[in-house]
Parts: sequence; structure tokens; C-alpha cells
Amino acid sequence: MNIAIDGPAGAGKSTIARAAARKLGYIYVDTGALYRAVACECLSRGIDIKDTAAVEAALPGIRPSLAFADGEQHVLVNGRDVSGEIRTPEISMAASAVSAIPAVRRFLLDTQRDIAANNDVIMDGRDIGTVILPNAQVKIFLTASPEERARRRCKELEEKGTPQPFEEVLRDIKKRDHDDMTRKEAPLKQAPDAVLADTTDLDLEGAIALVTGIIEDKT
Ligand code: C5P
Repeated sequence: MNIAIDGPAGAGKSTIARAAARKLGYIYVDTGALYRAVACECLSRGIDIKDTAAVEAALPGIRPSLAFADGEQHVLVNGRDVSGEIRTPEISMAASAVSAIPAVRRFLLDTQRDIAANNDVIMDGRDIGTVILPNAQVKIFLTASPEERARRRCKELEEKGTPQPFEEVLRDIKKRDHDDMTRKEAPLKQAPDAVLADTTDLDLEGAIALVTGIIEDKT
């Protein structure tokens, strides 16, 4: 069983999908972590992520993978666990930049499809329903207004002890939306057969109930 959840940054995909997966007995796969891992490795090697040729040239030496322990996903690069390190605003923007490079998307395609072929998954990302798993049994496009998403992200950053001004967070979210939706390769968009779930006016419990309900209805 494959369930695809796509949507813009900060829509709550990971929190909601993780909770739904636990409730329904699926493995939760956060594909953004793979793009973040590639970006993180490029930055730590001093590669300019705007230099497409340099990023492409580095790919054969970068081996990102996902591992699952106690229902939690860990992301590794060349065997090193970078799960914590990839969750910074700098890596968010860098991941968005490398994800627009067609060679990077091709590079990560099989990793994602292999996991989905071998497990019952709820997989979240930007192009899961449109490109990675076009035959997923359930597709959900999860969204919320940019302001609400920025508010949620600010709260998360504050809880992590790394607060950022609302205006900066909103600006980054809007830039990522724009870049993710207008890139040539696999842009962020709702698949024609995806159910739209808008969580702007829902609290976390409400959003989890909405998504779990859609999945239960369709399966
Ligand atoms: O979901 P997350 O914020 O971790 O994703 C980081 C970046 O990776 C996104 O802004 C997007 O550009 C890219 N991404 C993607 N396709 C996916 C998942 C993430 O292009 N399936």
C-alpha cells in the first residue's frame, strides 16, 4: 500500500503523516530529508550549490540512504547519520536549490521507489503523487496559507531554541513555494487524482483526523 502526501513547505506534512502512519501501521517516509542530505553533503564539501555542474559532478560520491528504527526515520550520507544536522533554515534553502537540478531528482528517484516497493508507506514530499508514485492508492495534497505555515514554523524554531523573526520565516516560505512550484523538473503541484486537504483553520489533532479519515475512506 502506497500513500502519497505532497504539499508546500510548512504545511505540517511530516507531523501529520508521521502521526497517521503510526495510527494506521505504515512506515513514514520523509523524502525531503534526502534532498536535505544531498545539500548538506555538498555544503560540507565546500561545493557551491548554485553551480549545477559541480553538484552533478559530486553526486557519484554521495550515497544518501534512509534507515528506520522504532518507526523513526534516520537519514544517512555515506554511512553518517545527518538526521539532526539537516534541520536548519540554511539547509532548507540549499535543499530547495539542489532539488531543482534534474540530475539530483533522477539520482534520488530509485531510492524512493525502492522503499515504496518494499513497504507499506506514507511518503511525503513535493512530487510523490505526480512523479515518484503515480500509482499510489491514495494521494493527498496538504496545504495551509503561507502566513499560517510561517506561524507554525516560527513556533517550531522557537521550541528548538533557534527563534527567527516571523517576516524572515514568511519570506523564506514564499520563496521556497515559488521556487518549488515554478521549477521545470517535477514542480510542486496537486496531482489530478489527489484529495486537497487545507489545514489553515485546523489544529494538529484536527489535521491528523482529516488525513487519517481520507486514508481510511480510500482504503
Ligand atoms: O520537505 P522539506 O522541507 O524537508 O524539503 C526540503 C526541500 O526539498 C523542499 O523545499 C523541496 O525543494 C525539496 N523536495 C523536493 N521533492 C520532494 C521533497 C522535497 O523537491 N519530494
